[in-house]
Amino acid sequence: MIPKRLKILGKTWKVKTVAKRIKIEDTEALGSSEIEHCKIQLSTHMDEQQQKDTLLHEVVHAIDDTLALGMTEEQVLALGAGLYQVLSENKKLTRWLGE
Ligand SMILES: [Zn+2]
Repeated sequence: MIPKRLKILGKTWKVKTVAKRIKIEDTEALGSSEIEHCKIQLSTHMDEQQQKDTLLHEVVHAIDDTLALGMTEEQVLALGAGLYQVLSENKKLTRWLGE
């Protein structure tokens, strides 16, 4: 189940799911993150694997914005995809991290 809240660097972010694609200005997106409101929007208009990948992507954006790292979209894409692969394929690791 998609978590409704995430703790990211000391703040609680709300995760709002939307059935349609998300409109950001004039373009459509699968997800968005708003640091001002600590809110992530996630479109459920895609398969579950893509939703997980997209949520991690938005988490990386949230970390980037919180720490003012100034990452490029390409860096966020790469790190999000890398984290998703490692965390999803190493269940013992994610379980151990949460202990
Ligand atoms: Zn992005």
